Order: sequence, then structure tokens, then C-alpha cells
Amino acid sequence: MSHRVCTLGVMLKTSWRTNARCAGVDTSVFMPDENETLTIKRKEQALWYCQQCPVRQDCLNYAYENNIQHGIYGGITTKERRKNLYNWKAERCSSQSR
Ligand code: SF4
Repeated sequence: MSHRVCTLGVMLKTSWRTNARCAGVDTSVFMPDENETLTIKRKEQALWYCQQCPVRQDCLNYAYENNIQHGIYGGITTKERRKNLYNWKAERCSSQSR
């Protein structure tokens, strides 16, 4: 199992990354440009990878848990993640209390 230490010194479980569909893909596909926008072509490319990705939920959880504010994670843009944050938290609480 692989881990990464974040800037706060917290061990983050990142073993799911070994199965990422985007492994080896140019990360700029998933990141906004200097104007904080994603071109339609880049977004379509990123979503193509994400739609086929076996670790999509892990990736999305990672972005929410680490408050990542830029780029596509789990097939969801930053704007969409902000919009769905409440639902993600509610779903997470519900699944952890089962
Ligand atoms: S969901 Fe998308 S960004 Fe996340 S690991 Fe999979 S392909 Fe990469």
C-alpha cells in the first residue's frame, strides 16, 4: 500500500493511484490553464479517461478530503465539486455510520 505525506505531515492513502486510468497521461489535460479555464477539448479528453477509470470514486474522495481547488478529479470539475460538496459530505457521513 502506498502513501504520500501531505504538507501538513498527514499520511494520505494513495494506493488507488496505481489503478488510475490516467496514469502516465499528461496531467495538463486535467488542469486548468493560467486563466483558470479548461478548454472544451481538454475537458472532453479528461472526462474520457475518468469515465473508464476503476478508481473514480477514490479519486473524487481524495479531491474532497484534501480540498483540492483546481482540476478534474473523479470526472468532476472544480466548479462541480464545489456545487456538490454538501451532497458528498452527507453521503460520506451516511456510509460511515452504517
Ligand atoms: S478518475 Fe480521472 S483523474 Fe481520477 S484517477 Fe481516474 S482518470 Fe485520473
